[in-house]
Amino acid sequence: MLRVVKLEEGVFFVESERGGRYPSSNSLLVGDESFVLVDTGFSLSLQDVKELKERFRVEVVVNSHCHEDHILMNQLFQEAYVCCHRLDAPAVRSVTELNNRYFTPRDGELAKLGEQFLRQLLNLKDSKVDLEFEDSYTFNLGFTKMTVIHTPGHSAGHCCFYFPEEKILFLSDYDLTPFGPWYGGTDSSLTETASSIEKLKLIKADAAATSHRKDLVRGSNEILRLIEEYGSKLREREQQILSALRERWMSTDELADLAIIYKRFPEPKDLFKVSERIMIEKHLETLLEKGLVEERGGKFRSTV
Ligand SMILES: [Zn+2]
Repeated sequence: MLRVVKLEEGVFFVESERGGRYPSSNSLLVGDESFVLVDTGFSLSLQDVKELKERFRVEVVVNSHCHEDHILMNQLFQEAYVCCHRLDAPAVRSVTELNNRYFTPRDGELAKLGEQFLRQLLNLKDSKVDLEFEDSYTFNLGFTKMTVIHTPGHSAGHCCFYFPEEKILFLSDYDLTPFGPWYGGTDSSLTETASSIEKLKLIKADAAATSHRKDLVRGSNEILRLIEEYGSKLREREQQILSALRERWMSTDELADLAIIYKRFPEPKDLFKVSERIMIEKHLETLLEKGLVEERGGKFRSTV
């Protein structure tokens, strides 16, 4: 069932059918007579998409980034003008390119399974992109404005959106869920994730919505508290990795098996384990730089 909640005049929150759970994600609708739809993964049901299109004339689709749960239904908005950040545009246009951002050359067969998962299980299709924007690009929507905040780290071209007049912030996949930040793509970056989180802390919004949280967060203090809590997961994970490496020498695969970040891998487990490994690798890189970890023959150990 389609759930559209009005946040302010002309800004609506489209709560995804599964409360924001992957492979769905919440959307925003902005407009009056014609509308901008931010992300298209709000439902896996064709009926819901049909209903939304009947109620709201969507002229523009803005993708916060290239991940499948945000672009899934682009295929049903062919008549709309599709926009996303320049760095994510190639992966919105091509499922193969998106898949390349989840797997490294060493993943071989798993990469093939990944593409099958996207194409066959999720029925993801290549999408057009009509406009590639950059940081600070502003959509002038008549009575309201929506400004792009480029927040790389989660993906290279990940963006959040700010409505300066209404003081509403859409945090996309810096989603303020207990899982914490995700940077398991080949185009993800741990340091950029940390600096994007710092950037988001500086925005004084009255209300925040995210792609995977059911509820809205109200009040600038509460928003800041939740962003800080979310960011603290990075240090927590670093400590957990260090503590595992105090016990013995471990390879990245052995560390990934511990599921420090995912806790429990969703299905298909092997595919999500690749994301865990990539995130662990990014932590190890930072830990090596800080001299907190040493490497010998592909295995790692804590030095502290
Ligand atoms: Zn994402």
